[in-house]
Amino acid sequence: MDMITRGAIIPDAGNSVENKTGSWRVFKPIIHYEKCIRCFICWQYCPEPAIYKKDGSEYPAKNDAIKKRITEVPVIDYDYCKGCGICYEECPVNAIEFVKEEK
Ligand code: SF4
Ligand code: SF4
Repeated sequence: MDMITRGAIIPDAGNSVENKTGSWRVFKPIIHYEKCIRCFICWQYCPEPAIYKKDGSEYPAKNDAIKKRITEVPVIDYDYCKGCGICYEECPVNAIEFVKEEK
């Protein structure tokens, strides 16, 4: 008799990485690094989380002092971003644009 995996059971810890939830998205956030103050509020609030920190030396920042003091930037992983818009709502300096996804 074939067995069916019961619901609400996680057979392999960490297997959510295999579910690329980005295909659910209708709207897409885009970070404009020239406005970004590198506060990482978007990173803290993203429920996935689909925002990670990356070396920011190649990215612009709102000013040179920020770039010198904070060496990382937030980057959106579109494989997992569901387009919920929380990062867009929470960014204190409107550095995130929320646009219709082109499929
Ligand atoms: S839209 Fe939602 S899921 Fe996508 S990066 Fe922003 S907070 Fe995370
Ligand atoms: S919330 Fe806005 S300003 Fe802060 S790190 Fe994210 S994009 Fe940059």
